[in-house]
Order: sequence, then structure tokens, then C-alpha cells
Amino acid sequence: MKVFKFGGASVRNVSSFKNLVRILDKHQGEELFIVISAMGKMTNAFERLVVSYASKKDRVEEDYEFIKNYHTEIIEALFTNKDNAVFKDLDALFSSLRHKLSQQAASNYNYIYDSMVSYGELLSSTILSHYLNAHGYKNILVDARDIIRTDATYIEARVNWDQTPSRVKKAYRQVLAKGYRIAITQGFIGASEHNYTTTLGREGSDFTAAIIGYSLKAQEVVIWKDVDGVLNADPKQFEETIKIDHLTYSDAIELAYYGATVIHPKTIKPLENAGIPLRVKSFLNPESAGTCINKNNNVQNDTPCYIFKFNQILISIVPNDFSFIVEKNISSIFNALSKYNIKVNLMQNSALSFSICVDNGPLKAPQLINELNNEFRIFYNTSLTLVTVRNYNDEAIKKVCLNKEVLLEQKSRNTVQFVLR
Ligand code: ASP
Ligand code: MG
Repeated sequence: MKVFKFGGASVRNVSSFKNLVRILDKHQGEELFIVISAMGKMTNAFERLVVSYASKKDRVEEDYEFIKNYHTEIIEALFTNKDNAVFKDLDALFSSLRHKLSQQAASNYNYIYDSMVSYGELLSSTILSHYLNAHGYKNILVDARDIIRTDATYIEARVNWDQTPSRVKKAYRQVLAKGYRIAITQGFIGASEHNYTTTLGREGSDFTAAIIGYSLKAQEVVIWKDVDGVLNADPKQFEETIKIDHLTYSDAIELAYYGATVIHPKTIKPLENAGIPLRVKSFLNPESAGTCINKNNNVQNDTPCYIFKFNQILISIVPNDFSFIVEKNISSIFNALSKYNIKVNLMQNSALSFSICVDNGPLKAPQLINELNNEFRIFYNTSLTLVTVRNYNDEAIKKVCLNKEVLLEQKSRNTVQFVLR
């Protein structure tokens, strides 16, 4: 069996639903577990709704209507048979969301977030399930909250690996026992031990697909995207990108670590552990092979890969008395970083200073600087770009550094990083 994950872009409008059916036409008779994201940019729309519900009540109505209209327009066009149960099921989902919105907001913002943003996937999966049933792909909709067990860390829930695989297996066994081959479930969402809805972090649907693939020892997991596969750079940054045909699991983990956004970083590990290949394929060009990520070390990827992180701040930390940087200093710097939950994108130390490059968020970076100011002298530059080049060569370096001032550079055998202004 295979796991297919369709992201928001593959179910963003009527023609994308039709396209999805054309993809399944090429996989007739196969056993599939389909993981689906919220439609289009609906997760962002739900995030706005949650903010309104929690703090700007007068906007709730407008945000809610926006979401409701978006889904309604699509199902009106997709389902010519107005007796299809999709209409009743969507009404039920919207009434329960409405009901939540009419309640007094709970004090735990992250809990509210998960209980509402998850509707994006509940809606999309319900629509897809009915749509596929109506087009000859008989399927069973499995509620992800029954199979993906997590802790109660709302917004960034951690998977309970003791319970989840057996639940996934049981659910799929039941699907097969009922004579169906296709199961559909929601990406991104799960439930805690006490059955409260949780989410796995933005872009978490890839991870859901990996969890299911791992649990069922799938033949492969396919992530269908609007790009041809894993590219060597973000097409928004570079005019000419190259599709990478093959990556090892560790290449893929490294790329995700440095900030490549094609695959959710947590996705790779479970697949690597179970030796399941991950394919990234284009839903617009399904015939093309896409990118295959597996453990095959024989094919070395030596294409330079570029990862850009914008809006960086480079902070140089110097002991107040201009003494050497010693372990004790480094330890207090790291305590401060961990206190404000700041991820270091790059660090470097010299005798007299310790430098870190981090995302310049409106909240965290000023807090960090404030705290470090007690013990150190702080110098910093903002509006910088951190560029990482994997498999670099001279030409690649020239390309990224052209007309730029290099504030910091770090090189290892495979990877070079520049902080640029
Ligand atoms: N819908 C969620 C998001 O947009 C999860 C996902 O699509 O992977 O972040
Ligand atoms: Mg999405």
C-alpha cells in the first residue's frame, strides 16, 4: 500500500479536485491511505479567525463567513447532486464551529487554536471523501483524532509513538475488512489522551503522512506538490532552479534543517527508520518522476542547493571587561537563548566575542538583547540574509555573494554559510 499526501494547493479550487481524481486514475485498484491538508490558504484564514475570536470579537463574523463561503462555493460547483451527504456533513461542521465561536473564549490560547484551526482539515477531508465516493473511488474517512495520539502540547503536539502505530494499523485493517482500499484522513491534526484536538505544527501534514507510512510499513509515501520535486533553490529566489532526482534521508534532513521548506523536517526520520522511500511529485505533472528520498548512497547529489533565510539579526556578544570568551560566558548566552526559545541559525566564536545569527522576530530578539546587555556588550546588525549552500563550488559562492557584503562566513566540507548585507 501507499500513502498519498495532498497539500492545500492540490485542493484549492474545483479544478484541483478534478485533477486529484485524474491522479488517482493512474493508481486504480491500489491500496491507498490519503492524507489531506486544509484547502488552499484556509489554515491562514482559520488563524485569523482564532485571533479575532480571542481578541477582536467584531471581526469574527467576517472571518467566519469568508471561510464558510470559500467551502460552500466549491462544494456547490463540485456536487451537482444536491442530495449528496456532503451538504449535510458540512452544515454539521459549520454549526459546531459556530457553536464554539459563541462560547466564552477559554484562557488557553493554544488550546483554542487547535480546536478551531483543525476545522480546515475536517472540512477538506469530508469534501474529498464524498467527492471521491461520487467518482468511483469508494473510501472510508478515518478521523485522524482516533489514530494520531499526541501529548497535550497544543500547537506543537508530540506524537505518542507507543499508541499511534497500532491505532493506524487497526483503522486501516478495518477499512480493508469492509472491502475498501482507500482510507482518507486529515493531516496536521491529532488528539490528546483525553481526546482534545491537537495540531502537529504548521505544515504538519507531511509528518502525518510519514507517521501513517511508518505505521503501515507502506511501500512508499508520496507528497504531491505544485513543484516538480525537491528543487535546489526556492523558485521565488532563483530564476533557474534544478530538480534534484534523488536525495538520501540525511541529505533531506540537512536541507530541512537549514531551512529548505519543501518537506517538513520531522517527516524524514520515521521513514528513514522504517526504510520507506519518500517521493515528492508534482500534481500538475504526475508523469514526471519527481524526487525520490531513500537510503541509496550510491547516487550522490552534488547539485549545489541554496537556502535563504531573510530578516536575520547578527548579534556579537563581548564580555563587559573585554576579557576572553570562556565557557561560563557561553553557558549564560545559551541559557538566555533557551529562556526565550530562540533557535540559533549560525554561531561563531573568537577569542573576544561570540556571534550568533537568529531570526529577527519582533519579540524574542529584543528580549534576548535586553537580557544579554546585563552581562555583555552587545553589537548587532539587522536586515541581513543568511544563505546556506550545500554542495558548494566557486561558481555557487560567486552567485550568492555578488554585490553583497559578507559579514560572516562558515565553511565545512559540504556546506558553506554566509551572513550577507
Ligand atoms: N494545513 C496546515 C498548514 O497549512 C498543515 C499542512 O498543510 O501541512 O500548516
Ligand atoms: Mg496547508
